[in-house]
Amino acid sequence: MPASQAILKGLAEDGGLFVPEQIPALDVPIEKLAEMDYQQVAYEVMKLFLTDFTEEELKGCIARAYDSKFESDEIAPLKKVQDVYFLELFHGATIAFKDMALSILPHLMITAARKNQVGREIVILTATSGDTGKAALAGFAGVEGTRIIVFYPKDGVSPIQEKQMVSQKGSNTFVVGIHGNFDQAQTGVKQMFADKGLAQEMAEAGFQFSSANSINIGRLVPQIVYYVYAYAKMVGNGALKNGEPLNVAVPTGNFGNILAAYYAKGMGLPVGKLICASNENKVLYDFFATGTYDKNREFLLTSSPSMDILISSNLERLIYRIAGNDAEKNKDLMKSLQEEGRYEITPEMKGKLEAFYGNYASEAETAAMIKKTYQETGYVMDTHTSVAASVYEKYLSETGDTAKTVIASTASPYKFTKSVMSAIDSKYEGRPDFELVDELEAISGVKIPQAIEEIRNAPVLHRTVCEVSEMKESVKKFLGI
Ligand SMILES: *Cc1c(COP(=O)(O)O)cnc(C)c1O
Repeated sequence: MPASQAILKGLAEDGGLFVPEQIPALDVPIEKLAEMDYQQVAYEVMKLFLTDFTEEELKGCIARAYDSKFESDEIAPLKKVQDVYFLELFHGATIAFKDMALSILPHLMITAARKNQVGREIVILTATSGDTGKAALAGFAGVEGTRIIVFYPKDGVSPIQEKQMVSQKGSNTFVVGIHGNFDQAQTGVKQMFADKGLAQEMAEAGFQFSSANSINIGRLVPQIVYYVYAYAKMVGNGALKNGEPLNVAVPTGNFGNILAAYYAKGMGLPVGKLICASNENKVLYDFFATGTYDKNREFLLTSSPSMDILISSNLERLIYRIAGNDAEKNKDLMKSLQEEGRYEITPEMKGKLEAFYGNYASEAETAAMIKKTYQETGYVMDTHTSVAASVYEKYLSETGDTAKTVIASTASPYKFTKSVMSAIDSKYEGRPDFELVDELEAISGVKIPQAIEEIRNAPVLHRTVCEVSEMKESVKKFLGI
């Protein structure tokens, strides 16, 4: 299927995820990429996957996405702190890494709709663990020919994440809190995608669904770009020799971000270890350790809510590859996940996971890493990034592997002010997030991002809350069908 159609559909008819038939090789030398800006690198990477987009179309999408919405000209700046490099992916409109892909997805989608003569209105149906929701809302608000519906766990996101979403403007936007967790939101959304009767009703009323979650391949491809960009930049500034392996440590939830790094490695980028960092919802750590994926466990609410996930959807795409691109085998395992909540891979498949290292950080370790790094360097990181930094520290002490390492820094500390500030000093405990914003600015010297300023006093525009079982009804109500 052409890439543009896969982006439009989001999910295959049988409920499976779209994957590239093969991972293309980078066709521009690193030295050349090192001289390019983010937008140019984005083109060189994305053109290899989105092969049915013309040069003009793709360059147009890139130019409209990576512009002054980002508070850094570099789009994804690298910050060296002690011996590691933080790849700051949070300088977009909603200050989390989701902006890296969601600022371009709407443009890819409208272009795809035009290319495929889609006459119907596209309804973006999204489940969020906190960050995708706002990034998708910001991307799709006011985009003609689209509507966007976001479901978030009412008690499972930070107050700032919630305020960002419920203050969203735009008559094509709809935000719903559910009495449930992220997995339930994601499962509910997937069920609606697979619901043939609903699709029929939608079609009759002139609508069709698509997805802004990382199950959409149009989310994944733009995420490969920043790994290539970071590597090339480091070669360009002499931090790395061309060809030298670069480890990446990624705070992981739905397995989208780290899968993009794996794809980058598959393209020939000299990525060393893929360090997969989990919080206390450590289903992935257990999977890498044992070869069994088992979601039958308690769902914990942590200080890194965007990683509070037990069903890491994108792992399906990795399973497909380590099963030797065997779609049937993949399907059997996913069926077992659906029916029994677990599956076990073969020793042969497990042998293909060598590039990965999995571990997790407890709540106490996450807080301690924020504090230690701040005290030693003045650098303030958010809770998710700290999970990755903590796991990287474990990796380093277990293996002694001193290869250069990039830590994917997935959110601004301003998004999780309360957790970050109370990690640094217990005197901040119990104070509300918004009040601590000014304190964070004072201690870090990092200016309050525009994204925070604009929601501080913004009115709440979305108040719908529903049960998990009522998700479909609320979609129909919003669409008037
Ligand atoms: C979404 C998110 C993650 C997890 O990324 P995945 O691609 O789902 O693994 C980590 N940190 C933050 C801040 C996020 O928003």
